Amino acid sequence: MWKRILIANRGEIARRIARTCRRLGIEYVAVHSEADSAAAHLGGAVETVCLGPGPAGDSYLRGDRLVEAALRTNCEAVHPGYGFLSENGEFAAAVERAGLVFIGPAPETIAMLGDKARAKALMRAAGVPVVPGTDEASDDPGQIEAQVRAIDLPVLLKPSAGGGGKGMQVITRHEGLAGAIESAIRVARSSFGDGRMIVERYIDQPRHIEVQIFGDGRGGAVHLFERECSLQRRHQKVVEEAPAPDLPAQARQRLLEAALQGARSLNYRNAGTFEFIVGPDLQCYFLEVNTRLQVEHPVTEAVTGLDLVEWQLRVAAGEPLPLAQSAIACLGHAIEARVYAEDPAQDFRPSPGTVARAHWPVGLRVDTALDTSGEVPPFYDPMVAKIIAHAGDRQAALDALRAGLDDTVLLGVAANVGYLSRVLDDPAVRSGHVHTRYLDERKDLQAPRSREAAVAVGAALHFPAIAEQGSPWTREAGLGVMDRHCLDAGAPLGRVHFELDQEPVAAGYAAADGPGVDVAVGNTLRVERDASGLRGRIEGRNWEACPAESGWHVQVDGDHHAVRPRRTREADGGSTDRLATAPMSGVVAAVPVRPGDRIQPGDTLAIIEAMKMEHAITAHQAGTVRALRHARGESVREGDLIVEVDYDAAP
Ligand code: ADP
Repeated sequence: MWKRILIANRGEIARRIARTCRRLGIEYVAVHSEADSAAAHLGGAVETVCLGPGPAGDSYLRGDRLVEAALRTNCEAVHPGYGFLSENGEFAAAVERAGLVFIGPAPETIAMLGDKARAKALMRAAGVPVVPGTDEASDDPGQIEAQVRAIDLPVLLKPSAGGGGKGMQVITRHEGLAGAIESAIRVARSSFGDGRMIVERYIDQPRHIEVQIFGDGRGGAVHLFERECSLQRRHQKVVEEAPAPDLPAQARQRLLEAALQGARSLNYRNAGTFEFIVGPDLQCYFLEVNTRLQVEHPVTEAVTGLDLVEWQLRVAAGEPLPLAQSAIACLGHAIEARVYAEDPAQDFRPSPGTVARAHWPVGLRVDTALDTSGEVPPFYDPMVAKIIAHAGDRQAALDALRAGLDDTVLLGVAANVGYLSRVLDDPAVRSGHVHTRYLDERKDLQAPRSREAAVAVGAALHFPAIAEQGSPWTREAGLGVMDRHCLDAGAPLGRVHFELDQEPVAAGYAAADGPGVDVAVGNTLRVERDASGLRGRIEGRNWEACPAESGWHVQVDGDHHAVRPRRTREADGGSTDRLATAPMSGVVAAVPVRPGDRIQPGDTLAIIEAMKMEHAITAHQAGTVRALRHARGESVREGDLIVEVDYDAAP
């Protein structure tokens, strides 16, 4: 086995790989960017190597620096994790050229399977069922149009070099076809540097089911059963499970066999995932092979009791596959939920920043990059944790995961914890009858269950009784934000004004007794608080808060809210900053204005890039640019002033 390896990744997956290394007595070298110099994934490493500045292109995607670091620190092998360079055949080849072992498939296999058209052709030849359509990619609009017209509608245009569901386009009518094709090619070119598209039949309401396999590189392969990953948003997986619920034994057998057949035909080496879509008629169609460890591998580990990273390390070290097929069993049911630093209520906008407090459920497996606090840098994927429940059957696993989400606290950034719990409570999800577009159709799950509850908690946080421990609460206390002379029948103890998620709100205090405050917000809600005054229950659900720079970060029933003092009219009047500030931490991608420029409402003042997404800051009214505070390429934090504008006086 290995003496020392380099882990060419960050975050939870780097820690996951390190865990197995420690158990097996393998030393590891950790790498990091300048933004990750204090990150938790560096713990326990024999050596750490800084790769470069924060943006992934300058650090985790620098294959040359990774190889150099591995050589310099006397590593024998490189584990790529997932994402970054894990499916880059050239990187795998460079690792091997340097005399190191790449922990994964052969570089040629990675390169071959990275081209969807080629992968489909190979699988069709191996007798694996593929989606009807072309297996030849093209960037000739005329040829693509002919291919589309040769297949029944609806048709899917898919970038051959694509990933992450990006750039796919469903064609439902022949009108406007030429324009749709041109635009799909353009998107593919700009996203993947390769405009070639494949054309395939669009399967309506499919399930996404994938098979975990391991190959020995000599034509031998075993499967570790399947995972269902149909709960996706915009083709990105959110909740995954093993085994696939309610899948008839015959259909399961077909999938497992097809994956093994494909793996054997390629002399596949190490871990791989064969992805399929399964139509409502249970027809299975091969989609692609992921040539690496998957994010969702823990559900397979839970039901098989195996350590997939250990298998990867052993196979890469030249050992045979650790178990024969007959010795691999699937026991019980496992479900994983991905926790992202993002705001579901804002269309899943990424929310990088400082996590002031994280608390994870006990008794469940949690793979995370953050233990109790830490940074979510703006440069990388916003996933911060995976919570995995394993139980005897699916209902018990769902219940355990659901309870675990109730115990999950993430304060300081927005997160999707409340969204995940609403997804798990959904009857269709509980019954296991969903398809890959289900979550995209259920936008209603993105909004918090109760905004009133968040207002009530915000009001309770302002209520002085606990803050002023020992002194009996009086009407005069804490009046910074309260109406002093309130003769309000609905709010006999006074009324409070503050901002919840940047919107002004008001609530009345109906009654109070030590730990509890009754807050009138439409209905009267009782907010229970513990002795700290910073956590408690409302309407049978948990809430927790921690002080922020101004006000509090609050989580109510899993949803994040910002409670801030109300901005006074003077502070707002004529002020520019609220509108030309960074909406989130990130990097300035563009500032298309110059001092002295006249701007009109809706004009873009700056573009902030965070987590591979761009966010425009636009002018809300006409004015003149006074000064630029940040230039392209600079890192900014949420709330930083980017462009100073003298807005014209309101007419
Ligand atoms: P990517 O590599 O970009 O993730 P995939 O080919 O793996 O692309 O497809 C991603 C997702 O897109 C699948 O999980 C499925 O939800 C959907 N999808 C892909 N191909 C089809 C198809 N032919 N019909 C319907 N949905 C599809």
